[in-house]
Amino acid sequence: MSTVQETKVEKPEMKRKFYHLIINGEKLESSNGTTFKTYNPATGEVIAEVAKASKEDTEKAIQAARQAFDYGKWKKYPVNKRSRTINKIAAIMRARFNELVELEILDTGKSLHAAQGQVMQAIEDFEFYASAIVGHRGAVNSVPGQFQNYTEKEPVGVCAQIIPWNYPLMMAAWKIAPALAVGCSVIVKPASLTPLTAIILGEICLEAGVPEGVVNVIPGSGSEVGNYLVEHKQVDKVAFTGSTPIGKNIMERASQTLKRVTLELGGKSPNIVFEDADLDAAVDGSLFGIFYNTGQSCEARSRLYVHENIYDEFVRKFVEKTKKLTLGDPFDKGTHIGAVIDQNQLDVIDGYVKSAVQDGADILTGGKVAQVKGFENGFWYEPTVIANVNHQMKVVNEEIFGPVVVIMKFTDEKEAIKLANDTEFGLGSALWTKDGARATRVANQIQAGIVMVNCPFSAFPGTPFGGYKQSGFGRELCIETLDLYTETKSIISYYGSRPLNPFGL
Ligand code: NAP
Repeated sequence: MSTVQETKVEKPEMKRKFYHLIINGEKLESSNGTTFKTYNPATGEVIAEVAKASKEDTEKAIQAARQAFDYGKWKKYPVNKRSRTINKIAAIMRARFNELVELEILDTGKSLHAAQGQVMQAIEDFEFYASAIVGHRGAVNSVPGQFQNYTEKEPVGVCAQIIPWNYPLMMAAWKIAPALAVGCSVIVKPASLTPLTAIILGEICLEAGVPEGVVNVIPGSGSEVGNYLVEHKQVDKVAFTGSTPIGKNIMERASQTLKRVTLELGGKSPNIVFEDADLDAAVDGSLFGIFYNTGQSCEARSRLYVHENIYDEFVRKFVEKTKKLTLGDPFDKGTHIGAVIDQNQLDVIDGYVKSAVQDGADILTGGKVAQVKGFENGFWYEPTVIANVNHQMKVVNEEIFGPVVVIMKFTDEKEAIKLANDTEFGLGSALWTKDGARATRVANQIQAGIVMVNCPFSAFPGTPFGGYKQSGFGRELCIETLDLYTETKSIISYYGSRPLNPFGL
């Protein structure tokens, strides 16, 4: 009897003291030796040093991506080979699920259940695009005369993908997976506060067989690396997720080279509870809608509108449950709310709450920096509910990006829609009602890219995610994202037997 000897491949630990740039398939230190530290927001402790990309490194990454796109094999692979490789990325992530979750928690301070859900979604995004690309195709168009016209979808080229700190791995997956599926090359710029899992994802892409230069990951400063990518002539597209002011700035600068641009920006999403709603489901869903991920979600339902007839009962139950939310060790299964990303964000949140108090609002619960036993040096904020507010207040109009919700009364459907749409943003929205006709009526009139009806969840692989108004444009996570990473080429051919002589000469 023979036995098969398994070769044990040693995989580098995900948790390390030092993280490299990934350029052209190589793990590199930065050209000028610069590094930066990344911190655990729950404890305030340093986790690791990270190589900080310089302009020179950024140029190198652009040239690697350019070379891979213009002369490399990735875009030429048969689609089923690209699909298999993308599935392999997902398989490696699945096999190392717990390590990815651990690293994401350390780098972001988010709770275990949030990190697990997001890492799983990142994996499913790759699986989704591995399947979706197989059915992505051009069209045959009917044209008059003896002409044939068909369209081809061609990869747009080299894509700069700039991501925020709130969902580091998931945002990287939302961007890398569709770009890879169509055959683009990418340069990923993770947020400086949370670079680790995007770097690991870059390594996993290489391990899965994505050729060198196709996926480059260069942590570094937004104003230096980000600017350089946005302005560079040899970058064809910028896909950005982040704040609205930076999004506007990117759009302006990208216009100089007419880059393709997609922007996933901020929000101030409304959450409407009608009189006929299942009250307990609405309370629980609204709680999740704002406090999930410590309120650091672009589509956090941070403006709560409740019908006047149920307002008192809703508020009583909502505040009661808010007080029961547990802040604590992010690795603990019982923790609902993780840390805020850093001291700066903690100050921003507290500043908004103080401004509300100055404007005459009432704090129903929370309202201050939280003290969490064993995590005294971390960044924590109490889940906060603010009432007695109006649409002139900053706390109602601006994105806070923390565990803070404002709550207001409305009298009828028309007023609820008016209040919901009275914002410069248009990303998420939610409504709670047992009346199906009302749900459809209101959903049709809300100016937002996403409407959640009796539902606390905003996105699954396959559902379009993106904004109206100043929440940006373009949709991620869905089939049509593939179109945003492709150009449509129209091919017209003549099949008549007599030569054409349009000038008649
Ligand atoms: P941010 O400050 O706008 O930063 C986002 C990314 O842009 C980071 O990688 C940042 O790099 C980089 N950056 C900064 N300045 C830049 C510049 N001049 N040129 C190019 N890149 C630049 O946003 P954030 O604070 O990380 O994230 C929170 C924001 O993201 C919120 O507004 C939230 O609503 C939004 N968001 C939107 C969605 C969506 O799908 N709509 C999803 C998640 C988050 P550094 O880290 O080095 O500064």
